[in-house]
Amino acid sequence: MTDQLHKYISLLKQKGAVHVKTIDTDTIVVAPWTIMKCRYGCPRYGKNRSCPPFAPAAEETQKILQCYSRAILFSVSSMDSGTPAALECASALTNDGFYKVIAFGTGPCTLCKECSLANCPQPHRVAPSMEACGIDVVATVRAAGLPINIPPKPDEPLNCYGLLLVD
Ligand code: SF4
Repeated sequence: MTDQLHKYISLLKQKGAVHVKTIDTDTIVVAPWTIMKCRYGCPRYGKNRSCPPFAPAAEETQKILQCYSRAILFSVSSMDSGTPAALECASALTNDGFYKVIAFGTGPCTLCKECSLANCPQPHRVAPSMEACGIDVVATVRAAGLPINIPPKPDEPLNCYGLLLVD
């Protein structure tokens, strides 16, 4: 599996990914509680397309995951760089015939000063984060054997994780 996806792993590394690993989608942990972290505590909740309640809820995410068998999990060290990297890699995969590919980025969409929600001018540049869709990122990353610093320590680089559902 890794051999076939090597080109895309390299592309993600070129785009700043620190850790990249192909995983089976059945190791992705879906947990409906993640939306509570968004709804109560995040000032971005409901304010852009990549966040709940616009992002798919856990039940829908679970059904979507069942359509795939393999994925690429990757980390970047800045919240801003994960979504562009994921979308560029998704575009490369699509161009190579992986027509089902779906990207999950890092953090909320911050492209516009004021989000226009229903009239997004650049929806092709928006991707939800895993946690916005009910994925337990920490459990998923740990199941993959990759590092994640929870809670983040000031002297350690951030590990912000994105995901591509490939098949
Ligand atoms: S691109 Fe702009 S309008 Fe679209 S989701 Fe992001 S912030 Fe909102």
